[in-house]
Amino acid sequence: MKNEIIFNLLKVHQRIENACKASGRNPSDVQLLLATKTVPADRIRIAIEAGETLIGENKMQELRDKNDILSRLPTERHFIGHLQTNKVKDVLKYATCIQSLDRLNLADELHKQLLNQNRKLDVFVQVNTSYEESKFGLEPENVLDFIKIIKSYETLNLKGLMTIGLLDVEKEKMRPSLRLLKTIRDQIYADQIDRITDLKLSMGMSQDLEIAIEEGSNMVRIGTSIFGNRFLGKEIWNENLAE
Ligand SMILES: *Cc1c(COP(=O)(O)O)cnc(C)c1O
Repeated sequence: MKNEIIFNLLKVHQRIENACKASGRNPSDVQLLLATKTVPADRIRIAIEAGETLIGENKMQELRDKNDILSRLPTERHFIGHLQTNKVKDVLKYATCIQSLDRLNLADELHKQLLNQNRKLDVFVQVNTSYEESKFGLEPENVLDFIKIIKSYETLNLKGLMTIGLLDVEKEKMRPSLRLLKTIRDQIYADQIDRITDLKLSMGMSQDLEIAIEEGSNMVRIGTSIFGNRFLGKEIWNENLAE
């Protein structure tokens, strides 16, 4: 088990490096975030002891369950799943960044709680660049206006944009939804909204890592290629399974 995770990590780093080389990018511009939903803390620990530092969880419950072990390890924990407003307070106990900011009432609730705690938080705005109904995220057309509003929330440090691209067996079908995230970033830059000069693109998963890097990703979020397939009893994990 240990060797397998370490071997998989090497392979993923190699894929990142190769993809960077192929598109003339510097591998240090692409961070690896471990997508650890359903992965037990002892398996995550193996990856952290191998040198990884960045993990992403999708559910409040899992953040809490794994906290005993993970809070003692040098990790930065991001929240990458759909966040219900009534879970904000709990998630803030564990996460240092929310990558799934996708609506105004969530921004309001984060701002309120953060003001109470007198702290700031890194956030990514999630965009539904594939326009799939099953996915969360702002519609691409609404991102600019949304960002103009939340930039006045001084508790939120806007770090970047996040998307889950369209997954398909055909590689080229995955490209447009990834390219669109970069286009949206260019629009934001062109609009010269105050203080916004460096936005990271969080995109690319096990299946579309290479294309995401070709399209400018700064952070790939990888689960399956490192930890194997996710099964919960008979069910395959999905975002809408109840907590
Ligand atoms: C599960 C998940 C990933 C990783 O997906 P894999 O295909 O397992 O690499 C990335 N991002 C989000 C938001 C996820 O929920």
